[in-house]
Amino acid sequence: MIEVRGLTKRYPGRTVLRNAVDGIDLDVPEGKLVTLLGPSGCGKTTTLRLIAGLEKPDDGRISIGGTLMCAPSEGVYVGVHHRPIGVVFQSYAVWPHMTAVQNVMFPLRSGQKKLPKPEARRRAMEALEMVGLAEYADRPAPALSGGQQQRISLARALTREPEVLLLDEPLSNLDAGLRDRVRDEIRAVQQRLGITTVFVTHDQDEALAVSDEVIVMDHGRIVERGLAQDIYAWPREEFTARFMGISNSLPGTVTSADRDMAEIDLAHGRLRCLASGTPAVGSRVNVFIRPESLVLSRKDPSGRGWKGTVEFSIYHGDCWDYHVRVGDTLLRSRMYREKIGLAHGDPVFVVPEQETAIAITETPEGTA
Ligand code: ATP
Repeated sequence: MIEVRGLTKRYPGRTVLRNAVDGIDLDVPEGKLVTLLGPSGCGKTTTLRLIAGLEKPDDGRISIGGTLMCAPSEGVYVGVHHRPIGVVFQSYAVWPHMTAVQNVMFPLRSGQKKLPKPEARRRAMEALEMVGLAEYADRPAPALSGGQQQRISLARALTREPEVLLLDEPLSNLDAGLRDRVRDEIRAVQQRLGITTVFVTHDQDEALAVSDEVIVMDHGRIVERGLAQDIYAWPREEFTARFMGISNSLPGTVTSADRDMAEIDLAHGRLRCLASGTPAVGSRVNVFIRPESLVLSRKDPSGRGWKGTVEFSIYHGDCWDYHVRVGDTLLRSRMYREKIGLAHGDPVFVVPEQETAIAITETPEGTA
């Protein structure tokens, strides 16, 4: 549905032009929700604005639904109002002197559309229904919560009956509790309507929760893309592993490798891991292990445990996080269900679950 090739946007830096978006290719399949995820300044908003037609690229091509929207080398540029898109920004831009339904109707009554009032109201009510706000139609906008106001902007974007929905950090102005609810509602509406969507966020959890596919960006480039569950469980790049919050990282050396698996010598013992690519025997890798894959035990019948000492623990309600010193390394282990009642200074075995760690070949600066 969306096809982007070689997309490049430069902004003047202090001394030179900087590539805010650096020749990226991406495809968003019809009906899917794809997230652009990355740290501040990585170019995700610029990419979204280029797809929307709010910015002009320096190079590249963008097609939506098979129609070329923009290609500077061919002199093609379709403006934002003529693209089959709806856009929702982080500031929800709801007009305070109007009711909910007037806010949603407004674009239909102005600009090029100028629909008659009853038709505009009918379409606006349909959109309010889609976002679950029909019963609030006649409520003044200031009497709606932040989450409801953001759903008004979503409804407004939907009245254009867009082929593509573009959402730029739509949850970041909402407080924590509301954020999860509006996130779930956006995902529910998107799946119900089957609308192709690009969602920009810097929040990993948000990206995993809403996405069919996640595209990880850094410095204007795509680092990696994949299904949300693969990006979480099996990142192939060190940048992604760190950005997705894998807190345990251990240097090691490859002792054997076949296609997707490798045996790694770590300071604490040998570990069979998933491997990114097929690393060469003898090469240095970093092994990333999620805290929930390090199980703590007072005894070590398997003989695979690493001997350590508990530094401290943190209780989260549904789990405990233990920080355990093993040699020079401080490891984090997350234990659900059972509380094993460990305290500072207790000896413990850290048992890595088989084949859940990821070995990623070391990059020179330690970043991808
Ligand atoms: P954030 O999460 O902070 O919004 P982002 O990943 O969306 O970040 P962009 O807003 O796309 O990043 O910015 C990418 C780079 O381009 C940044 O270095 C930014 O400073 C720069 N940039 C963006 N807009 C402009 C502009 N209008 N003029 C100059 N530089 C810009």
